[in-house]
Amino acid sequence: MIETCEMDILTQQERSERMRLITAKNTKPELAVRRLVHKMGYRYRLHRKEFPGKPDLVFVKKKKAIFVHGCFWHQHSNRSCHLARMPKSNLDYWQDKFKRNVLNDKRNIKRLKQMGWSVLVIWQCNLKDETRLRFTIKNFMK
Ligand SMILES: [Zn+2]
Repeated sequence: MIETCEMDILTQQERSERMRLITAKNTKPELAVRRLVHKMGYRYRLHRKEFPGKPDLVFVKKKKAIFVHGCFWHQHSNRSCHLARMPKSNLDYWQDKFKRNVLNDKRNIKRLKQMGWSVLVIWQCNLKDETRLRFTIKNFMK
């Protein structure tokens, strides 16, 4: 039996449009992290192009960078994460897409570290526990 799904019949253009929407939604966790970090008294720069991967939050003097990763797009590999589930249809397409995202992430983090930077990745699902997240950020910023 052939399983048909909405995603299968989308044209390339519709698909990228759909992805743009999903990606835009992913800025929500980023905003939440920004607000929290600001509330904690840290001041940062945003998406500085001169740094590998354009980290979401950059602390230039401290040489620290924070990435906020949507669990779906960056394929959070934590077993307890339910947000990273693979789509059921068009698996090849998505796997390819995700593989590239994950590889890029790894490469960018490696490059930053080679430059002497510290990097913190905050996953979308980490936002559920603010107390713990605060603790993580505080430790990272020390
Ligand atoms: Zn997650």
